[in-house]
Amino acid sequence: VPIVPPTLIRAHRLVTCDSARDELGAIDDGAIAIEAERIVATGTFPELSKRFVAAPVIDHPGLVTPGLVDAHTHAAWMGDRAREYAMRMAGADYEAIAAAGGGIVASMRAVREASTEAIADNLRARLRRMATLGVTTIEVKSGYGLSEEAERRQLEAIASVSSDRSLPRVVATFLGLHAVPPEQRGDRRGYAQRCREWLDGIVRDRLAQFVDAYIDRAAFSVDEVRPTLERARELGLGLRLHVGQFADVGGAELAAELGAKSVDHLEHCSRSAADALAAAGTSAVLLPVASYTLRQDPPNVAQLREAGVALVVASDANPGTAPTESLPLAMAMAARSYGLTIDEVLLGATSRAAASLDLDCGVLRPGASADLVLWSLRDEHQLVQPAGVSLTAQVFSRGLRIA
Ligand SMILES: [Zn+2]
Repeated sequence: VPIVPPTLIRAHRLVTCDSARDELGAIDDGAIAIEAERIVATGTFPELSKRFVAAPVIDHPGLVTPGLVDAHTHAAWMGDRAREYAMRMAGADYEAIAAAGGGIVASMRAVREASTEAIADNLRARLRRMATLGVTTIEVKSGYGLSEEAERRQLEAIASVSSDRSLPRVVATFLGLHAVPPEQRGDRRGYAQRCREWLDGIVRDRLAQFVDAYIDRAAFSVDEVRPTLERARELGLGLRLHVGQFADVGGAELAAELGAKSVDHLEHCSRSAADALAAAGTSAVLLPVASYTLRQDPPNVAQLREAGVALVVASDANPGTAPTESLPLAMAMAARSYGLTIDEVLLGATSRAAASLDLDCGVLRPGASADLVLWSLRDEHQLVQPAGVSLTAQVFSRGLRIA
């Protein structure tokens, strides 16, 4: 049951991520007033306790932040790819694993064999575990079906889970252009054309808010995906694109041209592309767990920062290149391996991630969705250490306690 009437949450340290205040919008001895699904006020506890005299108070002796927003996951996967991980650790590279029938196609087989209910059950359990880590919103991509029937089944499983208010909020992305299925090998253009044809049904049945495509040397070219992405845009879907993971093949320029909400990975990105992304208002979603697994050098974060591109941090949760469910792990790696500041990490996993998804969460301000985490931590500096365990005390999504 959501919190009604107004309740106050008192925090030893409140980090609002509300840039109207300052970078992090931190308030010591802060408070938030929540009513039903919304935040109605934020401020110091002495101020708010005078305004909401009769309100019950949850007195939290630690840090409170917005709920974490994981803006890039493949969380609706089935099976596992542990043998492939062992191959990779023994030296096989991504492209060799894909050529040997591993990689995305291995997950495709597992999803094609699964029922919608089984995919939904698996995803539900995963979202529950993610909630205990402080994640209140999760973007989930399809892309392990690679046929109209199986892609739709994966999206239907995501939709069935997204109606459950006791779980984090779910945003669905159609990623048919993840890989070419074996039955169409050698015909990338033809497969991309089919994905374009599936869009009308996906929009009609409200199965996705975004469309993604994997643009890279061993994936799709700009020319191959352009017609599908243009059609997606005409139909009112947002774009978020896998770009520059292994090579710069012009994906970032395409994303900027089409007004994509995000480009994700960006291990390879030119300065002129970074400038184009900044001008287009396209966010950079950084995925440090993937580059760690693949032993890659980090993206040129300094260049993105100088260009003025908004930086987002996400888990890339998937069974191959980022075998984790933990956004806090990705945050710790973004600090350690990518050199993001604590402020950049926290904003990148809250307000900036939410903005890249067109959502009114990720920030503690009046009118925003009541998505917040009461941490068993004193302040935000402890948040970017690789803890390896859940550090949350209470987690709220849309005014409802979910962990
Ligand atoms: Zn991904």
